Amino acid sequence: QPRIVVIGLGVVGAALADELTQSGMRHVTVLEQGPLWETGGSSSHAPGFVFQTSPHRTMSLLARRTLDKLDGQKVDGQWLLKRLGGLEIATTAERVHDLARRHGLAQSWGIPSRLVDPGECAELWPGLDTTSVLGGFHTPTDGVVKSVHAVRWQAERAVEHGARLVPRTRVVGVTRTGGRVTGVEVLPVPAPDGATPEHVPADVVVACAGLWGPGLARDLLGFELPMMPMEHCFGLSAPVPGLIGRHDVLDEASRPMLRHQDFSLYLREYVDRIGIGAYRHRPIPVEPDGVAGADEFAATGVHPAMHPLTWEDFGPSWDEARRLLPELRDVGFGEGFNGIFFFTPDGGPMLGPVAGIDGLWLAQAVWVTQSAGVGQVMADWVVRDDPGVDTHELEYTRFDPAVVSRDWTRARAAEAYAEVYDVVHPQASTGVQRGLRTSPFHDRQRELGAVFEQANGWERPLWFEANAPLVDALDRVPERDAWAARHWSPIAAAEAHATRTAVGLYDMTPLSRLEVSGPGATAFLQHLTSNDVDRAVGRVVYALLLDDAGGIRSDVTVTRLGPEQYLVGTNGHRDRVHLESRCPDTVRITDLTAGTCGLGLWGPRARDVLERLTDDDVSHQALGYFRAKRLRVAGTDVLALRVSYVGELGWELWTTADQGRRLWDSLREAGTPSGLVAGGRRAFHSLRLEKGYRAYGTDIGREHSPAEAGLGFAVSSRKGDFVGRAALEDRPVRRRLACLTLDAPEAVVLGHEPVLARGAGPGQGAVGYVTSADQSYTLGVTVAYAWLPPELAEPGTALDVEYFGRRLPATVQSEPLVDPEMSRILR
Ligand code: FAD
Repeated sequence: QPRIVVIGLGVVGAALADELTQSGMRHVTVLEQGPLWETGGSSSHAPGFVFQTSPHRTMSLLARRTLDKLDGQKVDGQWLLKRLGGLEIATTAERVHDLARRHGLAQSWGIPSRLVDPGECAELWPGLDTTSVLGGFHTPTDGVVKSVHAVRWQAERAVEHGARLVPRTRVVGVTRTGGRVTGVEVLPVPAPDGATPEHVPADVVVACAGLWGPGLARDLLGFELPMMPMEHCFGLSAPVPGLIGRHDVLDEASRPMLRHQDFSLYLREYVDRIGIGAYRHRPIPVEPDGVAGADEFAATGVHPAMHPLTWEDFGPSWDEARRLLPELRDVGFGEGFNGIFFFTPDGGPMLGPVAGIDGLWLAQAVWVTQSAGVGQVMADWVVRDDPGVDTHELEYTRFDPAVVSRDWTRARAAEAYAEVYDVVHPQASTGVQRGLRTSPFHDRQRELGAVFEQANGWERPLWFEANAPLVDALDRVPERDAWAARHWSPIAAAEAHATRTAVGLYDMTPLSRLEVSGPGATAFLQHLTSNDVDRAVGRVVYALLLDDAGGIRSDVTVTRLGPEQYLVGTNGHRDRVHLESRCPDTVRITDLTAGTCGLGLWGPRARDVLERLTDDDVSHQALGYFRAKRLRVAGTDVLALRVSYVGELGWELWTTADQGRRLWDSLREAGTPSGLVAGGRRAFHSLRLEKGYRAYGTDIGREHSPAEAGLGFAVSSRKGDFVGRAALEDRPVRRRLACLTLDAPEAVVLGHEPVLARGAGPGQGAVGYVTSADQSYTLGVTVAYAWLPPELAEPGTALDVEYFGRRLPATVQSEPLVDPEMSRILR
C-alpha cells in the first residue's frame, strides 16, 4: 500500500484523510501546522453555507455529496449539518428573472427547489421586511455545516481507521527523485532556531493547504497556482432580544440561510445573534507572503485567516441588514472580522495530479460546500485513478500556464469576488486581462469590427460588425428575448447564411495542437485513442481519449504527417498534460499552438476561392474528405486538412504565425467574387449544432461513453487494445445525447435548462437537461442537445424544456438536422 501524506487539516484535508481510510488505505499521515481542531485556516471561520445550486453540474453534485455525507452525524452531541434550507430573495426585476433561471438549474441537477412569492418569503423567514422583496427561491435541502466539527468528525474517523494525525508540524519541502515524489520535509511549530527539517517518506503527497496553497506551489514546487486569497467581511450582531432563549447552542438556528444577492449579502442565525457576510466591498487580495505563517500564529494566537474588520467595507451591509431585518434595528453591532479565503478565475477548484511530478496531487481552492464531495473524488482518483465524476472544470490544468501569472490571477480573482452574487450571463466574457493571446489575424478582424470574447487567454471574434448590411438581405431576421440576445447579434445569422450559401472564413487559431513524433509515436497514440490512427500518411482521424472506465476524457483529431509523426488537435493544456504524463521517452510532444495559426474556409464556394490561390490540385479526387496535404496558398506554406466542423465543403488551413496575415489577406481578396464572409463564434456554434457535432466539455464528458454520446463511430473495433476498451464491452447505455428542436420557431434556450416529460406536474422532476443550444438559421428553429433516458431519446418523443419558468414544447429529432446524407461536404 502507498504511504500517503496529506498536507493540511482543514475541511478538505480531513475529508480526504477520511475517504482514503474508508477506501482501505492504511498508511495515511495528515501533517497540520496549526493546533487541533481550529487550525487557524479558513475552515476555522466559515459560517458554512452550503447552497447546492450552481451553473456547473459537477459542482452541484459535489455539494450534494457533501451534505449527504455529513447529514445526521454529530460531534459532542452537536450536529455537523443542519438542513435549514436556503432562501434567496429578489429585490430587482432582473433578480426575479434570474431566480427563475436558478430554479431551472436546480431542476436540471435534481435539487429540490421552488419559486416563492414575497408572502411565502415572510413565512419562511418570519420577521423579514418584505417591502422591497419581489420574490424568492427556496431550496429546502440546502444546509449549514459547522466546519470545525466537520473537520473533527472526519479526522477522528480517519484516525479510528488507522490514519496518523500530526498537528503543529509544518511541511517546508517536497522531496522528489527522477520526477517522482519521495516525501516531505517538516519542522515542528514553533521551530527552534537552527532546527533541521525531518524527512517524512511518502509515495503520494496531496496538498490541501488552503490559503497557503499558492505559496506552497510557488516556493516548494516552482509554479504559479491560479488562486488568490481575499479578505471578506463577516460580522455578528449583538444579541437580538427576540432570539434570546429561542435557540440554545446545540440547535443554533432554525430559519433558512438567507441570501440577498442584490446587495451581495448573506445572513444566518447564530443562537441569539444574526451573522452577516458582505461581498459588497472592494476586493481585498492578500498576497501569498501576506498570509501569516504557523510560527507567527503560534506566537501571537491570531488566526492567519482573520484580519481586523474594515468598517468602511462592512458598514453599508450592516445598514442594509437592519433595513431587511427589523429585529436588528434596535440592536448594536457585536463583533466582526475580515475572514480570508480564496478566489479563482472561474470560481472552480484546483484539483488533480501535479503535471510532471508523479505522486504529487492538489486539492486546493475548495469551499466547505464541495469539501466532502471533493474528498471522495480525490480519494477515488488517488486510489483507483478514476475520480468517478467529470473533472474537466475541476482540474487545475484547465488553465494554460501560458496565461497564468500573478497579475492575471489577481485581476481575475478580484473580478470573481466582485461578481460573486451578480447576475452573470452564461455567455459573458471576462472584462480584465484582455488581449493576452491574439492570432495574426487580430488586427484585420478589428478592422472588420469584430466583437471579441476571451477563451483561455485568446481573443476570439463572436461576429463582425462589418457584416451588418448582410442582415438586411436575410429572408427572416431572427429575434431573441432580451436575455438570450445578450452577447449575440443577428449578424451571426447572416454569417451562418453566407457559410451555407457562399463561403465563410473562420479563425481556428485558439484550438490547441500538438506535434507528436519519434519512434513509438504510432503505438503511443494507438494506445491512448479510441480510433485507428495507424492509417496512411495524409489521413485525418477523429478519435476519443477515454478513461479506464470508458468515459470520454477528451476528443482529438489526429493527422498522420509521417510514419511516426502526427498533428493532434486537442482541447487544450489539460490534454497535453495527459498525453505527456503517459508518453514514452522516445516520443516527443511539441506544442505548436502559439507559433502557428489556422483558418477554416468552408462553404459551397470554398473550392473556387482556394483554387484561385494555389497551383496544387484541391479537387475531391486529389484531396478527399478527412485527408491532409501540404499546399502553397498565395505563396504561404499551408497544411490543409479536409475537415469541417460546420458541415460544409472546405478545409482547415494551417500555417506558421509569420505567414498568417498574408494567408488571411489573400483569402479575403480571392474570396470577394465568391461572396466570402468572415464569420465568428456565434455563427460557428449554430452551424455545428445543425450538423450535430459535439463539443467536449459542453455536450460530452467523462460521465459518458461513446455509445451514449452518439460517437460510437469514433471507436475502432479492428485495432488492438487501447485505454477504456475493456470497460466499453459491458458498459450499459444509461442515457443518450439527443437532438431536440423547440416547436415554436421564435423560442430560444441557451443550455443547462431542465427537460421535462410532456405535461409533467410541478412535483415531477426533470428527465434530463440541455447541454448546448442555439437557433438554426438554416431551419428557422432552435436546436437543443440534451441528455435523456434512452427511452425518451427516440425521434418523435414530445418533451418540454423549461426556460425561465416557461414550458417550451420540444420534439426529439433524428440527427443531424442538416445534410444527413453528407452531400454538402463530399464533393
Ligand atoms: P483551510 O481550512 O485553510 O485548511 C488548510 C490547512 O492547511 C490549514 O489548517 C493550514 O494550517 C494547513 N497548512 C497549510 N500549509 C501547511 C504546511 N505547509 N504544512 C502543514 N500544514 C499546512 N465556504 C462555503 O462553502 N460556504 C460559506 O458560507 C463560506 N463562507 C466563508 C466565510 C468566511 C468568513 C471564510 C473565511 C470562509 C468561507 N468559506 C465558505 C470558505 C471556506 O471556509 C474555505 O473554502 C474552506 O474552509 C477551505 O478549506 P481548506 O481545507 O482548503 O483550507
